[in-house]
Amino acid sequence: MKYIVGLSPTILFIFYLDFLNRALFLLLLYCAFFEKYLLLSVTFYPKMQCEMCGSEKAELYKTKVEGVVLNLCKDCSSFGEVVAPVSKNEAKAKRAEKPAAEELEPEKEVIYLIDSDYASKIRSARERKGLKQEELAKRLALKESLLHSFESGRHEPSISIAKKLESFLGISLVRQEEVEIKQGKKQGQREELTLGDVIKVRKK
Ligand SMILES: [Zn+2]
Repeated sequence: MKYIVGLSPTILFIFYLDFLNRALFLLLLYCAFFEKYLLLSVTFYPKMQCEMCGSEKAELYKTKVEGVVLNLCKDCSSFGEVVAPVSKNEAKAKRAEKPAAEELEPEKEVIYLIDSDYASKIRSARERKGLKQEELAKRLALKESLLHSFESGRHEPSISIAKKLESFLGISLVRQEEVEIKQGKKQGQREELTLGDVIKVRKK
């Protein structure tokens, strides 16, 4: 004891760190081998979703509720009779099935298109109303030059402006079309749908 007390504080601190290190290592071994891979399971297994309240839990229980067996969390399992705990492998398999089912359903997206004869439609509707370009532009809070470029077919109106024109002039300029997005395009790539893709899909 006297010998240890005689060591410098720095050396003692290093011993202390070494001891902590060993203790942590032993704790990890203990957890892994004697506590049913507790640490590993928390790290590597996905959490499962309770089929009643939707909360994500590490443990679920097969519970019989009014004749139907559901995978429920501990709280919700009190509504029925617990049959057995849900095995991790079962949960993993269920999770793996999910994306496959989603791929079978083709993704659809609604796109808005401006009629190709928008220019003549706008012009004739305006003339029917007996309005000059300047007057119509004022009524819709648009620049006259912009309206002029619509009517001459140089510039396609945006969807929001086209809708304004539709309701004011009583004409139809915008049509909706449902397009199928090619399979394999995932959520993140959705915004990258190019005009080329849309045309390909429509030609089918
Ligand atoms: Zn629950």
